[in-house]
Amino acid sequence: MSNVLEVRQLAKSFGGIKAVSNVGFDLARGKLLAMIGPNGAGKSTCFNLINGQLRPDCGTVTIMGKKTNGKRPRDVWKIGVGRTFQIAATFGSMTVLENIQIALFSYQKRTKSLLKSVPRMDSSEAMELLRLVGIEDQHDRACGVLAYGDVKRVELAIALANDPKLLLMDEPTAGMGPAEREGLMKLTSDIVRTRNIGVLFTEHDMDVVFGRADRIIVLNRGELIAEGTPDEIRNNRQVQEVYLGEEPV
Ligand code: ADP
Ligand code: MG
Repeated sequence: MSNVLEVRQLAKSFGGIKAVSNVGFDLARGKLLAMIGPNGAGKSTCFNLINGQLRPDCGTVTIMGKKTNGKRPRDVWKIGVGRTFQIAATFGSMTVLENIQIALFSYQKRTKSLLKSVPRMDSSEAMELLRLVGIEDQHDRACGVLAYGDVKRVELAIALANDPKLLLMDEPTAGMGPAEREGLMKLTSDIVRTRNIGVLFTEHDMDVVFGRADRIIVLNRGELIAEGTPDEIRNNRQVQEVYLGEEPV
């Protein structure tokens, strides 16, 4: 079983708007799959359907061989799906290390004793994750005072706390400068390959998309209009038409 994610005929409407319509694709382990398309194309809706935030009108989502339709986000998370958010989701007043410890605790279902035991809990696993994302030297700083790029690294470490096989990253580099952006995506692709994780990500920066993705899928008005390698997508007529005359999104 090499696919971590299989999506078939996925559809979701909001009132009269077909946000996602008949979308299907596969994602293999150890690969980065970019989902691109203009604003409003349905990318975030797709992510929300895959992670359980939204229920599809029809179609199926299969994660590591298990159909997850109708499962709630927490249950999807438990089967090994990590997620980073477009908006920084860390607790600003807690230290970097505590943020990671909470994520680890939550996964190990020990949240009830959380507040009592944070100061005494073993920090080695959390420090290991911080080393992995390259910010172990910041472990005792409050998240609220970190540089933006480091907050994004904390978020990545949090997303890795449940040892995911599938990682969903909706605009992971939003708000970052070009160098930071490239740094975060290089880090992500190194981690993904060593841990054999499949990543589905959206990204505005086309240099990052074409430089980092193994494959690319293109949505337009809720429909999947192209799927292929970066070279295939670059040379696809329909994709060129969608992006013609406008800033690629
Ligand atoms: P993208 O992430 O590609 O920019 P979205 O998935 O956010 O696109 O949106 C796809 C379409 O669905 C848009 O027309 C958007 O306005 C609409 N949409 C998304 N979420 C909702 C919602 N909760 N309620 C109503 N319409 C929505
Ligand atoms: Mg979006």
